[in-house]
Amino acid sequence: MYIGCHLSISNGYENMAKTAVSIGANVFQFFSRNPRGSSSKAIDMEDIDKMQKILKENNFGPILAHAPYILNLASYKGRIYGMSKAILKEDYELLNSIAISYFNFHPGNHVGKGVEYAIERIADALNEIITGNENTMILLETMSGKGTEVGRSFEEIKAIIDRVKYNELIGVCLDTCHIYSAGYDIVNDLDRVLEEFDDIVGLDRLKAIHLNDSMMEFGTNKDRHAKIGEGSIGLEAIKNVINHPALKELPFYLETPNDLDGYKREIELLKGLYYGH
Ligand code: FE
Ligand code: FE
Ligand code: ZN
Repeated sequence: MYIGCHLSISNGYENMAKTAVSIGANVFQFFSRNPRGSSSKAIDMEDIDKMQKILKENNFGPILAHAPYILNLASYKGRIYGMSKAILKEDYELLNSIAISYFNFHPGNHVGKGVEYAIERIADALNEIITGNENTMILLETMSGKGTEVGRSFEEIKAIIDRVKYNELIGVCLDTCHIYSAGYDIVNDLDRVLEEFDDIVGLDRLKAIHLNDSMMEFGTNKDRHAKIGEGSIGLEAIKNVINHPALKELPFYLETPNDLDGYKREIELLKGLYYGH
């Protein structure tokens, strides 16, 4: 199985790969720049080559970069919209040039302008950012729907994808905490949730899973991650997620509140619950 977690990029790319190996991971996620969006360091090709070598030697799955949280591609404010597009474009070019498979971002917040407006705004931005010549795929993350968050339903995700010209470069990252909180009952009816995803978006679009338990109850539209087995989703449902025929080959990225030792334990636990190898 492909399992890993979110890692800090602050000590460089090679360091992330080494850390991942040391905790038994064979995929990982990192922020494309620090979460507040300040500019990334100049790229060090030697460091990146060293990372790629470790990834290859250890048969890693796809590496996922996460855009900073402060971006809002749905903003009606010109300055925020412009800044968000510029950062996403700059990071997308960088990630593409260093062969990172996936670039995940939160679709945005409409802050009162309504979801229809937001969907157009986000798609317009993506059409400025994607030239069609890239290899890195952009992933839309499914959201819990707190506040005016866009991407709380499969329909909203699909509506964005449909408006993107080069949408062969768009995929979806499904966050288990977020969709449970958004009202998709993966605890009692995982099959139906996935059928619904398939009907609306298409399972071929699904590229990555953020594997998190939730501190909040079902359908509360709150975004609070819990450790695996310690939240309202629970270990049994998580076990069903990682072994579901439609999901088991996908990469799983933990974003649970853990230090490295905690991640190591969760990775071990999940490998033990996985039927395949
Ligand atoms: Fe996220
Ligand atoms: Fe997530
Ligand atoms: Zn979250």
